[in-house]
Amino acid sequence: MKKADLDWANIPFGYMRTDYNLRYTWRNGSWSEGVLTSDENIPMHMAATCLHYGQEAFEGLKVFETKAGDVVVFRVEENAKRLARSSSKILMEPVPEDLFIEAVFKVVNANRRFVPPYGTGASLYVRPLVIGTAAQVGVKPAGEYMFITFVTPVGPYFKTGFKPVNLIVEEEVDRAAPLGVGDIKVGGNYAAGLRASTRAKENGYTEVLYLDAKEKRYIDESGPANFFGVTKSGQYLTPKSDSILPSITNKSLVTLAEELGMKPERRPIDVEEIFDFAEAGCCGTAAVITPVGSITFRDRKVVYAKDGKPGRHCTELYQKLTAIQVGDAPDKHGWVRRVPG
Ligand SMILES: *Cc1c(COP(=O)(O)O)cnc(C)c1O
Repeated sequence: MKKADLDWANIPFGYMRTDYNLRYTWRNGSWSEGVLTSDENIPMHMAATCLHYGQEAFEGLKVFETKAGDVVVFRVEENAKRLARSSSKILMEPVPEDLFIEAVFKVVNANRRFVPPYGTGASLYVRPLVIGTAAQVGVKPAGEYMFITFVTPVGPYFKTGFKPVNLIVEEEVDRAAPLGVGDIKVGGNYAAGLRASTRAKENGYTEVLYLDAKEKRYIDESGPANFFGVTKSGQYLTPKSDSILPSITNKSLVTLAEELGMKPERRPIDVEEIFDFAEAGCCGTAAVITPVGSITFRDRKVVYAKDGKPGRHCTELYQKLTAIQVGDAPDKHGWVRRVPG
């Protein structure tokens, strides 16, 4: 198939119109058939619960073209499970795992000409979401839901690419409470953090690093990504917390770190420990790994990337993960699935 006419190596991380999106509706106890449409708008009642009471959950995953020309998706089952868990926690109808996978395959196939060519560093980002669509003015679940999946070709999340970014520890804003919804992928968490990340950018930082809301002592995560540190002895450390999103990228990096002999550990990480790390990184589907160049905490700043270059461990993990994602390295763990065409 002829590829779309795009400058693949220079596309931004943003929305671009493609050919189709796919929609299913939950009504009267069952999911409808999927409907492909080119319409980018959603007709919706103004009293829909997603607009008033935050009944919205989403996912993000990436599709790549391999050297052999196959189209592959990374750990789609994990995203399927997480969306179901996110939906259930805010009392929306969970999308069954097989329906989710079917949706991803269908929408990718319908937009195959937008899958970036192998070797460009770009990928096709898949964004599934579930919203409560029925009208309610009293606070209760909608009872009617829409499951939409759209795609957009993307370049790297951070404009600087695989270059170190600068974080600031956030102490005035909490993103999520310990018993709240910080552990599921819902839009409300982003609304809660928007003022913090916007202020950080205005002050010259790339993103914030949140602390746990209860004690203000342990590292939670960055705005849109999990956090990890690498100690001077080469150990991979990542926060254990009830208020962070269980990142699939992080889970994969833990496996790879184990293989690299980095003795990965998930445990509460005191913010003071940042001063002892040799390297640090942010990780998530969008950013993969973004090496952290510096972290500012109150009037102190720790610099990891002294020569402006990412550290050895971040680079090694990044290369190992991206090689598996595009099919260049053996898929020992069964993470990559071919999208049947
Ligand atoms: C999506 C997301 C991540 C990254 O998760 P991945 O599964 O690796 O993409 C991390 N933190 C938050 C808050 C997120 O929404």
